Amino acid sequence: FDPNAMSVEAALENILKSISSIKTSECVDLKSAYSRILSKNIKSKISVPNYKNSAMDGYAVNVGDFNVKNKTYDCIGESFAGNPFLKPVKKNQAIKIMTGGMVPSGCNAVIMKELITKKGGVISTKSRIIKDQNIRFPGEDIKKNEIVLKAGNKVDEIDIGILASLGIDRVSVKKRPVVGFVSTGDELVSIKKPIKISQVYDSNRYLLHGLLKKYPVEIKDYGVVKDKIKSIEKKFVEASSNCDVLITTGGVSVGDADYVKEVLEKLGKVNFWKIAVKPGRPLAYGKIKKCIFFGLPGNPVSVVVTFNLFVNAALNKLMGKGQDHLLSLEAELLTSVKKRKGRKEYKRGILINKKNKLYVRKSGLQGSNILSSVKDANCYIELSENMGEVPKGAKVKVLPFTLTSEYYE
Ligand code: AMP
Ligand code: MG
Repeated sequence: FDPNAMSVEAALENILKSISSIKTSECVDLKSAYSRILSKNIKSKISVPNYKNSAMDGYAVNVGDFNVKNKTYDCIGESFAGNPFLKPVKKNQAIKIMTGGMVPSGCNAVIMKELITKKGGVISTKSRIIKDQNIRFPGEDIKKNEIVLKAGNKVDEIDIGILASLGIDRVSVKKRPVVGFVSTGDELVSIKKPIKISQVYDSNRYLLHGLLKKYPVEIKDYGVVKDKIKSIEKKFVEASSNCDVLITTGGVSVGDADYVKEVLEKLGKVNFWKIAVKPGRPLAYGKIKKCIFFGLPGNPVSVVVTFNLFVNAALNKLMGKGQDHLLSLEAELLTSVKKRKGRKEYKRGILINKKNKLYVRKSGLQGSNILSSVKDANCYIELSENMGEVPKGAKVKVLPFTLTSEYYE
C-alpha cells in the first residue's frame, strides 16, 4: 500500500481535466463515417416514413362505420410500393395494396389479405376493423426537423442506416487524432526475429495496435527503444512532435533501468505516476508539449487494464465523444479472492449464468504477466479500495467485457 498513490477516480479526473477535445472536423461520405465521431448534431430534413403507407399486403378501405361488421367494398384500383393510386377512395370502396404502398386519401384502414374474401370486383371481411389499423404514418419513425444524432455520437451501423434513410450522404466528423506507441526494454525482440534465452517478444505494440483499432485514430508505430536515457529521450522527442497521444510501455517503475518518468519530467510535465490500482500501479501520465503522454507499465495485462481504464477515457475526451457507461452487474464469488486494502483491483473473471443467477470465478492466474487469463475471461471483477480478501459466496461487482460473452453452465 502506497500512501502517495492516486486513486483511480482522482487519476481519471486529472486526465480528463488536462485534455480538450479536437476542434477540427472533416466531411466524409456516409460509409466512411463508420466508427467516426460526429462533430455536429444531425437534423432530419424529411419525415420517415415520408408518406402514409401500408404495413401489410391487403386492401386499403374507406370505412364509414367501424361498428358495422360484415362489410363489403368495391375494389377500384391498386397501390404498390413506388406506384401509388392517386385518386381519392370513397366510402365503401377499397384498393388492393402492398406493403409500403401509399395509402390513398379517403382510406382509413388496411385489412390484411388473409382476412378477405374476394368475389369479382368486391371484397368482404368478417373481421373487426379498427380505425387506422395497419397504416404507417408520416414521421412515426423520424420527424422532420428532429435532431436524430448528436455531436459526439460514435457512428455505428444503425446510425448509418438511419442517416441513409434520411438521404444524408456526407457527414461532418472529428479529425482523427494521431496516436503513437513505443515499447521500451533491452529484453525485447521483434516478432520476426528468432528469440534467445532471456529475451521477450515485444507483444505490447501488437496489443496496443489491436486496442487502438477500435478507435477512429491514426495509429503510428514507433518501434522499440532500449533502456537508455539518451535513446528514450530521442525517441520521445520524435514521436511526441508527430502525435496527439503517445503511449509507451515498460520502464516506468522504480527499477534501475526504468527511465520513462525521468525522461518525461525532463521533456515535459508529469501529472502523476502512481495509481492505487492493480494491475497498473506505476503509470506515468503527463504531457510533452501538446502531446498527451501515457507511460504504461510493461506487463501485458497491466497494459490492457490501464488502457481500458485510462487511455480509453482520454481518447473519448480527445475525440469529443461522451464517456462510456459500462454495464455493471452483481455476482456471487465461486472462489475466494486475494486482495490488499488500499488499492482498487481488477481481477479477470468468468461470469456464469446458472439457473438465472450470476456467479463469477477467477479466470486463472492473476499475475500481470498472464495474458492468457484475459483471453479466458469475459469480465473484470472490480474490488474497491477498502476491501480486503473476499470470501467465497460474497457478492462482488462485475464488469462484462461485452454483452454476449456470458457463460452458461
Ligand atoms: P517493466 O515495466 O519495463 O519493468 O516491464 C515489466 C515486465 O513486462 C517485464 O517482465 C518485461 O519483460 C515485460 N514487458 C515489458 N515490455 C514488454 C513488451 N513490449 N512486450 C512484452 N512484455 C513486455
Ligand atoms: Mg523494462
